[in-house]
Amino acid sequence: MAAAVEIVAANAEEFGPGNPFYGSSTLPFQAPPFDLITDAHYEPAMLAGMAAEAAEVIAIADNPAPPTFENTIVALEKTGQLLSRTLSAFSAITGAFTNPTVEKIQQEMAPKLSAHGDAIALNPKLFQRIAAIYDQRKTFALDPESARLLELTYKGFVHAGAKVTEADKATLTALNAEESTLSNAFNQRLLAANKAAAFTTTDKDALAGLSDEQIAAASASAKSRETDGYVIPLLNTTQQPALAQLAVRATRQAIFERSWSRTEQGDDNDTRDLITRLAQLRAEKAKLLGFDTYAAWKLDDQMAKTPESALKFLDDLVPQRIAEVAREQQDIQELIDAQQGGFQVGPWDWEFYSEQVRKARYDLDEAEVRPYFELDSVLQNGVFYAATRLFGLSFQQRHDLPVYAPDVQVYEIFNADGSHLALFYTDFFKRDNKRGGAWMSSFVRQSKLLAKEPVIYNVCNYPRPAEGQPSLISFTDVTTLFHEFGHALHGMFSEAQYPSLSGTSVPRDFVEFPSQFNEFWATESEVFANYAKHYETGAPMPAELAAKLKAAAKFNEGYGRAEVLAAAQLDMQWHTLAPGSPLQDSESFEKSALATKGIAIAAVPPRYRSTYFAHIWGGGYSAGYYAYLWSEMLEDAAIEWFNANGGLTRDNGDRLRKMILSRGNTEDLQPMFDRWLKSSE
Ligand SMILES: [Zn+2]
Repeated sequence: MAAAVEIVAANAEEFGPGNPFYGSSTLPFQAPPFDLITDAHYEPAMLAGMAAEAAEVIAIADNPAPPTFENTIVALEKTGQLLSRTLSAFSAITGAFTNPTVEKIQQEMAPKLSAHGDAIALNPKLFQRIAAIYDQRKTFALDPESARLLELTYKGFVHAGAKVTEADKATLTALNAEESTLSNAFNQRLLAANKAAAFTTTDKDALAGLSDEQIAAASASAKSRETDGYVIPLLNTTQQPALAQLAVRATRQAIFERSWSRTEQGDDNDTRDLITRLAQLRAEKAKLLGFDTYAAWKLDDQMAKTPESALKFLDDLVPQRIAEVAREQQDIQELIDAQQGGFQVGPWDWEFYSEQVRKARYDLDEAEVRPYFELDSVLQNGVFYAATRLFGLSFQQRHDLPVYAPDVQVYEIFNADGSHLALFYTDFFKRDNKRGGAWMSSFVRQSKLLAKEPVIYNVCNYPRPAEGQPSLISFTDVTTLFHEFGHALHGMFSEAQYPSLSGTSVPRDFVEFPSQFNEFWATESEVFANYAKHYETGAPMPAELAAKLKAAAKFNEGYGRAEVLAAAQLDMQWHTLAPGSPLQDSESFEKSALATKGIAIAAVPPRYRSTYFAHIWGGGYSAGYYAYLWSEMLEDAAIEWFNANGGLTRDNGDRLRKMILSRGNTEDLQPMFDRWLKSSE
């Protein structure tokens, strides 16, 4: 913390009332003043923000008055507002409208921000106060949300290591440093391995089945690598998209094998030594923090709570997934046999033949459906319409608020009684300075304590239409729009007292529930009929085409579900290693993990193999990959509930809003969800 204070002294002159982050925004709903913000404002505001927060936290820790819920726990909730308003604008820019200047700032500030966070989390005086209040919690008459805040604050500090002895803190810090170094090295080697393992050929015939555009792209890839012929680069996943089209079996097999063994070549890109040490040191770290396994430590604050419950959940899925995949495999094998293939389907054949089965069965042409999915109509008549029917919301576009990029649009959203709910920003089109994927985040997080109302945004990467042309999107893109708006609703409906319990600040195995569930409305018949209209004629999509589209969307789901389940099981096996275990041999560990779990299927390998499983070694999903499947389970239960209770109605929507979407993390998630699902309240 001292470091943060020093840093600021050097920059204090640069930060003053001239900086737009200096005070709270005076715009409606404290929306960020993007018309005044320049790149030069971020760094001084962040440094001043860290110093201010450090000083606020030291004042709480050093308070001579005895610790109380108000003077410690609530006081902590009020700290760091300058830093938080700066970072929320900054992360929108670095994610969706970046440039070399802000990237440099980001790189320089990352270690400072992380040290700043550690200094707060490991401050012994502060933790003493929190622990004293937590120990006497029965003597305070706290309301349920305050009791939840106290519990999560205390547990959050313990989780980060506040209770560890001073000697062990040094070991913990060293293990953390080693973990982040190995993790970094893993990401760098994987990046290099993905590049090096690209499939290269000079034989154009080997690429039969690809379109002329794809062959031209493969030739361009080769040129950019200064090599002859054609190059097909690898994606992160085990399966590669080109396998769905490549007609030559030997080519498919070669690409698959390059993918499968990319990080096990015994060269500079081999990651085996990194991941086995990571698994081992994570187990050591868990022991230091008082847990039997790393997964037990990691899941302690998640909805699943223990590795046992996550594992039971995964194990229970196995028989059904195996059966689904067996049915799909049979269809594929029949097709191979009918074509006199003379071989058993291998992992490199699956996509190629399942694509043929899909075409034969559904006869669906993507180009035929796109004219019915015009982006603005999908948003207004689909996504917004469903929210009007369920929650009574209304939407009004605003042109008076400054935005960070010309594409960005702003809507004010109102409740059924006409009261203001939230501001909602959309940024839909692909740009070179926007990272890939789609996401939701907030400029202002709702909290009654700080008198803040939500300002939420959604970012997507839809192809930008040519000037004057409509934006026609795929059905996958339609689903994404509903998905991200599901996250947005979770942020907008929040009615939390405390900012740290607000909106989407929930465990990772719950956060995808509102979004995955909102996708359900994309195919609901009334909603679908309201938005799926031809952009020129306004005619509804023909019933036959709509039926084909919905059926085809479900096709080959078994494969995807089984490969994800296999990956989730692998993750759990690695992260339930006992502390003190020797370094494992990754190949035999993986083989036996999949066999033990009954999910070793020759034609359906895990979505990521251990040695290129970036989510768990280089990302934030260690002992957490199951969360994708866990959210799906919640989503399935919710769909069943809606189907049994009248579907798209205000009553059903209001009930979901009241019991879940407005509640953030103000209650333990499992009882919250169960009460919503079961009671007739
Ligand atoms: Zn999501």
